[in-house]
Amino acid sequence: MAQPADTFDLATLQLSSGEARSLTLPVRLDELAFGGQTYSPGDAADARLDVSRTMSGYALRLRFEARLTGPCMRCLEDASDEVEVDAREIEQPGDDDDELRSPYVEESALDLHAWARDALALALPTQIFCRPDCLGLCAVCGENMNADPEHAHEREPDPRWAKLSELKLD
Ligand SMILES: [Zn+2]
Ligand SMILES: [Zn+2]
Repeated sequence: MAQPADTFDLATLQLSSGEARSLTLPVRLDELAFGGQTYSPGDAADARLDVSRTMSGYALRLRFEARLTGPCMRCLEDASDEVEVDAREIEQPGDDDDELRSPYVEESALDLHAWARDALALALPTQIFCRPDCLGLCAVCGENMNADPEHAHEREPDPRWAKLSELKLD
């Protein structure tokens, strides 16, 4: 994989209006803070960038996959999850409509790093577990329940049952 560049100059594609180009570019990825934990997507990913030249600007699509690794949200053991990113941007210079301006395009320079970072954050799964049926930690003693699914604590006898047995004795 080539050294990721943080920006890509769209003008180097020399597209005229109506033309499009697809290319594969390495993008640098950042660690993400999520649910009080830190998750790593690896240092970089090969991204596919689709560039379409419009009358006065660009329509862009960025796609890549990353494997997030970090602590399981239930038991804190190692966990990982595959994340698929598919993001689109429109850059129409001279348009007052914010929808048609991309925060990642300045003149013809595309800020690939910032776009990939934000798009990955938006594509995050809501939960990351070591396995789908992770049992988590015991609420009483903190032991990992996956290692001992039968794990249980003696319960205090319910005082109501004590009352009942007294009644029976009468
Ligand atoms: Zn777990
Ligand atoms: Zn316990």
